[in-house]
Amino acid sequence: MIGTHIDDDHIGGMYKIIEEMDIGTVYVPNNQYSKSSYDSMKSELEQKDKIISITNVDHEYMLGDAKCKVLAVDNSSPSLDNDEAINDTSIVIELEYGTTKYLFMGDASSNIERKLLEELSKIEVLKVAHHGSNKSTSREFLHIVRPTYSIISVGKNSYGHPNSEVLERLEEIKTNLYTTQNNGTIWIKSDGNLIYINDLDYNIDGANRKVSYVENLNILTLYYFKIFPFLSTT
Ligand SMILES: [Zn+2]
Repeated sequence: MIGTHIDDDHIGGMYKIIEEMDIGTVYVPNNQYSKSSYDSMKSELEQKDKIISITNVDHEYMLGDAKCKVLAVDNSSPSLDNDEAINDTSIVIELEYGTTKYLFMGDASSNIERKLLEELSKIEVLKVAHHGSNKSTSREFLHIVRPTYSIISVGKNSYGHPNSEVLERLEEIKTNLYTTQNNGTIWIKSDGNLIYINDLDYNIDGANRKVSYVENLNILTLYYFKIFPFLSTT
């Protein structure tokens, strides 16, 4: 389980997930803060005899047959008053499964994107950074990753997310855009070659639910999206 960073819209509901589900390793950028949502997450972890693991750039691990690589994370505990620095602590993950690649940007800004430009390449799915904020998803970045599908986790908010210029930039690269605001929970299924998005059979809220998603390692990417839409509503 990954808490991309310690903002409430990312870990605010984690205590409930920890309580309800059988979880493995837990990654969150650092453990230097005392903050109500973070503390309730930690106390729930304690109840299950678990700890937060700290990860570092270039750390690789497997999720079933999918390879995850940490592209960015900042464990330096910047001031909680500095929103942008906190967003830039986000754990950024590249997931590779078969011939398909996915990039999960957390709330990382263009500062982080710029640092990654040289190692990035064409991907199939982008979890757009920071709910579509204009501080992320630069044109330069998009032209390198050229995602076939882009997902924005966003709900009703006062920040103006998703930003109209970001939407224009996404349109320029002709990506297929999905937002949790318009499409609800977004499910992605892949066999490592083809990608299916919001296939009815995989809509957990629909009547045709056929997949036991927790057990099926091939669709662990679904699990990420299942968690984050309701945690990330701003
Ligand atoms: Zn956020």
